[in-house]
Amino acid sequence: GSEVDVDPGVEIDEENAEDHLLGGLQIDSTDDIEVPDRLVDQVIGQDEARDIIIKAAKQRRHVMMIGSPGTGKSMLAKAMSQLLPQEDLQDVLVYHNPDDGNEPKVRTVPAGKGEQIIDAHKEEARKRNQMRSILMWIIIAIVIGYAILAANILLGILAAGIIWLIFRYTSRGTDAMVPNMIVDNGDKRTAPFEDATGAHAGALLGDVRHDPFQSGGMETPSHDRVEPGSIHKANKGVLFVDEINTLDIRTQQKLMTAIQEGEFSITGQSERSSGAMVQTEPVPCDFVMIAAGNLDAMENMHPALRNRIKGYGYEVYMEDTIEDTPEMRRKYARFVAQEVERDGRLPHFTDEAVEEIILEAKRRSGRKNHLTLHFRSLGGLVRVAGDIARAEDREYTTRDDVLQAKDRSRSIEQQLADDYIERRKDYELQVNEGGVEGRVNGLAVMGEDSGIMLPVMAEIAPAQGGGQVIATGKLQEMAEESVQNVSAIIKKFSDVDLSEKDIHIQFVQAGQQGVDGDSASITVATAVISALEDIPVDQSVAMTGSLSVRGDVLPVGGVTHKIEAAAKAGCSKVIIPKANEQDVMIEDEYEEMIEIIPCANISEVLDVALMGEPKKDSLVDRLKSITTNAFEQNQGT
Ligand code: ADP
Repeated sequence: GSEVDVDPGVEIDEENAEDHLLGGLQIDSTDDIEVPDRLVDQVIGQDEARDIIIKAAKQRRHVMMIGSPGTGKSMLAKAMSQLLPQEDLQDVLVYHNPDDGNEPKVRTVPAGKGEQIIDAHKEEARKRNQMRSILMWIIIAIVIGYAILAANILLGILAAGIIWLIFRYTSRGTDAMVPNMIVDNGDKRTAPFEDATGAHAGALLGDVRHDPFQSGGMETPSHDRVEPGSIHKANKGVLFVDEINTLDIRTQQKLMTAIQEGEFSITGQSERSSGAMVQTEPVPCDFVMIAAGNLDAMENMHPALRNRIKGYGYEVYMEDTIEDTPEMRRKYARFVAQEVERDGRLPHFTDEAVEEIILEAKRRSGRKNHLTLHFRSLGGLVRVAGDIARAEDREYTTRDDVLQAKDRSRSIEQQLADDYIERRKDYELQVNEGGVEGRVNGLAVMGEDSGIMLPVMAEIAPAQGGGQVIATGKLQEMAEESVQNVSAIIKKFSDVDLSEKDIHIQFVQAGQQGVDGDSASITVATAVISALEDIPVDQSVAMTGSLSVRGDVLPVGGVTHKIEAAAKAGCSKVIIPKANEQDVMIEDEYEEMIEIIPCANISEVLDVALMGEPKKDSLVDRLKSITTNAFEQNQGT
């Protein structure tokens, strides 16, 4: 977006901008920030997508946008419609075809003309009807006059009734002359924007309604039953389709035809209905298509449709985070102002409240020196906070409101995880002190934004045949892999032959929905080694990390959430992969609760996690020499 404009009298302190959470913006509240008129200027980050939209609008090209939800895809599509010329807009009218009632005629006129034509037709029909009814009443008067003269009033009334019926049923013919305006751009100030996400075939491609009275003077003329699809309403504008892959293949094929031809006849979509007999002349649908979705969507999309877009347009990937600079932070402050203005009812945010939002954007990015671009959920936080202030009739939304909102707008997964921790505390399943052999506090991610502590237990038993790794549930594969990795290391320092042992691994209360069991291999390794060597594991330690065959600790996802989960569960230390050190973005409240220990090697992990000095030290020393040797050998080659 463009640089942030503030009201006159508000200053930007450029000198101290680096350290200032609002990038040096000296505001009292978001009321002091000017929101740009054009949507394209409101877009924050996504520079590449913005440039492409501007270019594609000039050249009328299609665009494919791939990326996470809530990063601005539909916002950019809408912004594009504001950039397209509005002089080209058209109204589309459907007329009765006297030669073939099932093939209505289609006419296109400049925007605004359609209404005049309809009015003229209506006026004409009205006049004709007026003439007809004057004629009718004259005839009726004459008939009744004669009847009175002939002294047979009953016959007169009967004749009058018949005349009235004849006129009534033939009047439909005159209504049929009024065309049906299916696209009305008369009062449009910008090119149309049509969101066809999740549309069924009829809504996307147009439809002809079923007529229950197909004859006998009660029928609705076919041209009046024609309904436009999004492709027609988007004529000269933008057609936006998110989750493009959810359209069924036949519909995607038809959509492609529409793009190729620039026009598409409307016909009844349901085969059984009388509408299916009707097919209009081609209706213009000269739109720019913006298809959106995640990476998945691209793979499942009709290949020919994708080629069409690619060949005649652009593809762009939406960013998830952006570098945290003073200028960017000022834009995030403007984002809050934009959301307040868009909603229309929220009290403006104080500078401190905005700071809290920016902190949250930093935290949610999961990357050092970055801000999240997942604006939909950030906007949700703004609205919840604003609603809290509004409910109390306050003039401004404050920092406290934002803090409260953060608690309230926890995701389902977060709520589940918190609830789960509470319940586990009740059952005392949580162990966060003392030493236990073969038991390790592992950490997993639930959903996208919450962590959970999942203990892993290992037990070694003599094998009944060949040694086996036995794990509960879906985690079998992962357990086998971790044991394989760790057995390569164990072989080198221990006399125990793992092939003669059964290793039972239990993930306590795993199998919980949404728990991601991956990235727990250092946990499994630690549990197995502890069980094998009879050395207890310190239960005040939680850990996460992946293990290589050589004993290196490899990075994993979701460290911030995992650390917070460990802190909530009452652990005092947490081991994370050294390579993840810079991804840690925990909230202040947790920082004092827990010590974070980055480890690069399994020997370091065991050094921290195991208890019982003499035995442990010798084990760690042996391990160290093995793994460093392997490391050095590797470096040498
Ligand atoms: P998507 O189509 O990618 O799922 P949307 O464009 O519907 O996301 O975004 C939802 C809302 O979030 C927008 O209406 C806007 O308020 C806000 N938003 C999203 N992306 C941005 C952005 N890059 N800059 C400013 N606001 C944004």
